[in-house]
Amino acid sequence: ILKINGLEKTYTSGNKQLTVLHDISFEVEKGQTFSIVGPSGSGKTTLLGICAGLDQPNSGSVELCGQDLNSLNEDQRAQLRNTDVGFIFQNFQLLPTLTALENVSVPLELQGAKDATQKSRVLLEKVGLGDRVHHYPSQLSGGEQQRVALARAFANSPSILFADEPTGNLDEETGEKVIQLLLDLNKENGTTLVIITHDLELANRTQQILKLKGGKIVTNQLTSVL
Ligand code: ATP
Repeated sequence: ILKINGLEKTYTSGNKQLTVLHDISFEVEKGQTFSIVGPSGSGKTTLLGICAGLDQPNSGSVELCGQDLNSLNEDQRAQLRNTDVGFIFQNFQLLPTLTALENVSVPLELQGAKDATQKSRVLLEKVGLGDRVHHYPSQLSGGEQQRVALARAFANSPSILFADEPTGNLDEETGEKVIQLLLDLNKENGTTLVIITHDLELANRTQQILKLKGGKIVTNQLTSVL
């Protein structure tokens, strides 16, 4: 479902150039759970953004859901993101002026869904926030906000979900709930998961681990999870 080949990424700021990804190639199979680990600054977030079509590499190719991202224009990439791809960002990125329910339903409505509000309610119940639907992000705890972000990411039934440190800001118990929701989504719907994490225990619960260091792949191996 995701095929990366010979990816290079260089950031330019002023007259300085910094190459943060070097010759990255790997594949994620449909339905797989896959994690990306590595020290801070090793290029994980940059790599995830390129895989998800949010950012472009300097060279190399990305095939996502059967489409070569290089051959798509920005509108076509946005279309692919809206229909087949979900994201969870490290800082949740909820809209502060919308309630939990609206944060989930508004993007769905924008995509033309008819029963967006009802569907969003069901999703929020699924993540355990049935009694918090009218709360604003500022009235929710970090873990609750992260679960709203999860519900929003699940809303369009993506075939692949990219998550950047989904448990990064959460306590152990809440983090565990979020992990369980993600793994359930994979089991029940076959959603492919690509997760950046510092948490090796979480990484070991996915089927494959890619380790980056200094923008290069150090290891890419299967875990014992089937
Ligand atoms: P962390 O675990 O700390 O989130 P990371 O592995 O996700 O780190 P990236 O965020 O991908 O790492 O950053 C990789 C490198 O690229 C870092 O050295 C960072 O400073 C640099 N970088 C990231 N974004 C930009 C940008 N927009 N312009 C210039 N340099 C950037």
